[in-house]
Amino acid sequence: MAPHDVSRSYIPHEPFRFIGGHVAADLVNTVTWERAGLDRDRLSDYGRVVQWAEEAGVIDRAAAARLRAAALVRPAKAEKVYRASRHLRDVVQRLLRLAGTRILDTSEGERALADFNELLARALKRMRLDAPATSGHAPPDASTQEEANALAWNWEGADSRLDAPLWPVIWATAQLLASPDVAQLRVCEGVDCGWIYLDHSRNGLRRWCEMQTCGTREKSRRRAERQKAG
Ligand SMILES: [Zn+2]
Repeated sequence: MAPHDVSRSYIPHEPFRFIGGHVAADLVNTVTWERAGLDRDRLSDYGRVVQWAEEAGVIDRAAAARLRAAALVRPAKAEKVYRASRHLRDVVQRLLRLAGTRILDTSEGERALADFNELLARALKRMRLDAPATSGHAPPDASTQEEANALAWNWEGADSRLDAPLWPVIWATAQLLASPDVAQLRVCEGVDCGWIYLDHSRNGLRRWCEMQTCGTREKSRRRAERQKAG
């Protein structure tokens, strides 16, 4: 497999796809994982990372606007976080692929897990609990006093740090890997695709990331083979 710090081509105007059933899979699916290397990369710069995070529901619109403005002031830092996002995507892809095939106890799996745990430790340093709504009023969605008294998970520096969108993705990935949903992880069977999804189909036999891309391609490939043979 070729190194994953650069891609062979970028498609910065192509819409993001959210077909993975989980934010970790959707991050993996921002690029095509060909044997010759990464291709058709939708994550072309920091701005696209922010856009992806917003569309994935990781950050809200206001946070995205703040991050875009902050990136203009600190372009070198934004570039660094862009590279960190690619690294995260690479680690998550290796981990989900291996977790889905239950071979995490190989040396490749151990390496992927060690790389991920390093990212997790750094992200968790930012996690904190905040007191319930400081205004003294219950939040509007709190139906009971108990809910109103509940503390809130937050990320320290979420408003200012350019790498803030990565932390919830890392945390969500950790939660996925520690859940029974791991058994539903699949890698698309399409040749040179590498997209990952949670198979929620009733019979558990979903084979493609998307029917209209890999599924169709595979069907026409088989048809051509049959015609050649016939
Ligand atoms: Zn596919």
